[in-house]
Parts: sequence; structure tokens; C-alpha cells
Amino acid sequence: MPELPEVETVVRTLRPQVLNSRIMGVELLRPSIVLSESLPLESLCGCRISAVDRRGKLILLRMLAGERQEAGQKPDCLVVHLRMTGRLMPHPAGTPPHAHTRCLFHLEGAQGASVLFFDDVRAFGVLFAATNTLLEAWPFWRELGPEPLAVPPDALARQLSPRFAGRRGAVKSLLLDQSVLAGIGNIYADEALFRAGIDPRRAAQTLDDAALVRLCRALQEVLRLSIAQCGSSIRDYRDANGNVGAFQNSFAVYGRGEQPCRTCGRSLEKARIAGRATVFCPHCQQ
Ligand SMILES: [Zn+2]
Repeated sequence: MPELPEVETVVRTLRPQVLNSRIMGVELLRPSIVLSESLPLESLCGCRISAVDRRGKLILLRMLAGERQEAGQKPDCLVVHLRMTGRLMPHPAGTPPHAHTRCLFHLEGAQGASVLFFDDVRAFGVLFAATNTLLEAWPFWRELGPEPLAVPPDALARQLSPRFAGRRGAVKSLLLDQSVLAGIGNIYADEALFRAGIDPRRAAQTLDDAALVRLCRALQEVLRLSIAQCGSSIRDYRDANGNVGAFQNSFAVYGRGEQPCRTCGRSLEKARIAGRATVFCPHCQQ
């Protein structure tokens, strides 16, 4: 599943291709991918894409209403959650949909016409045309935890401290909880915990301030390193140009169960935490 670095890479590669383009038409091929709270996707027609942002693992295409737009509620943004296998990619106008294309957005921009595909093999992805009010009312949005890269590590640790206090659950489970911290999934939880020297099974409430700062610093380091390498491509992930990331070549623990620890040389262990495969070094992580 794309996590923060992969979604950030999609945003950065998509932005120059669609910014200021106008949505001329929408073809929804799989209606079930639209969130029940969403305005009809046709309401996006006539809107201009005024910004491409990220919040956690969500992509936000901000919209400005067109002058000749029909009456009715105007969306302020299109929210895209790639979930497992979603992809956003622009193609030349007239490109026919792929086997797994779930929605097409016909765009008119400075460089002419194009079509933005939302492809999704598993079709678990989500599209949500929202006004600001609808977005604020969406529980997933309202409950999203802090952005891991928005503040320095000590400030992030202060934001996380009350969320970890009194929590007996494994620290890894909390890192995966989007209401505790936004944007983290299995890869970056494991990599950050290894870098911080913290056992993923440890009860969250046992982390003192120093350990929490160490964890936040490690999180920011792995996220930034991955963004610099355009994310990690394990299976399906591609950026908005169709390119793969390279950070999978730098994994210290993820997917390396029973291989030697890069620090101490001992065998890495595998465990199941929050239902997710977890790899760690019992010697280097305490
Ligand atoms: Zn080790």
C-alpha cells in the first residue's frame, strides 16, 4: 500500500501535469469507488485544479469553480485515497481506458487536452468530491493524526506523547493507526522502529520522552530518505509518470525476515503485530 513517501511522490509528479487544468468531463466506470458522502463526480465538471496537496495518505486536488458552471453544490476538492493498488496518471487525450481504469477525468490545460486515469486493480481505492464542509464532516479526515514531517522531531514527539500515554498496545500498532499519526504504514513503521532501536512489540506507554524523540527523528529520516528516492515500489506502486521508486533497495528490515541484521549481523526476527508482518532485530531493538 502506498504510504506517505509514495503518495508525496505521486503528488509531486502529478502537480506539474494537471495544475490549472479544467475538468471538462468525468467518466465513472466503477461507481463503488465513490465514497457514499461524495457529491456526484459530475459536479467537478467546469472546475479548475488550483492545487495538488497531500494529507497523510490522501491526495487532494483543490478545485476552483468555473464561471459557467451549472447551479448546485460546488466541490472544493477531489480527495483520492489510493489504498492498495490505486494509481493516478495522465495520458494523451483519446487514450482508451485500461482493464483496471475505474474513472477518467477529461482535462483541458495550457498544453491542450489530456485524460487523467484513476486505475485500481483491487478497486479498494476511494474518490470523494467534497465541499470543505463535507470534508470536515468525514470521520476519517476529522480524526487524522499529525503530519509526521510538518514540525521538528521534538515537537512531533510532544504531539505524540499524549496519544501514547496509557496505551498498552504495541508501539507498532499505534504507528499504523492513522488517528495517532498520519501517513505511516507497515514499511515505514518497521524501518523507523529499527532506526530508533525500539522493539515494535513494546507497549507504547513505556516509551519515555527521549525514546519518543528518537522515534520521531527516525521516522522523519526514513520518510525523507524515501521521498528523495521517489518512494518504495514493492508491487504495484508507480508515480504519476509511471516510474517506480528505489527506496526498497535501502530497506534495513522490511521484507528481510531471517536475513542478517545490517548492524549486528544476527538473524532478523519475524512477528505478527496488528495483523501485519513485522521484521525487527531483537538484539538492536529494545
Ligand atoms: Zn541487529
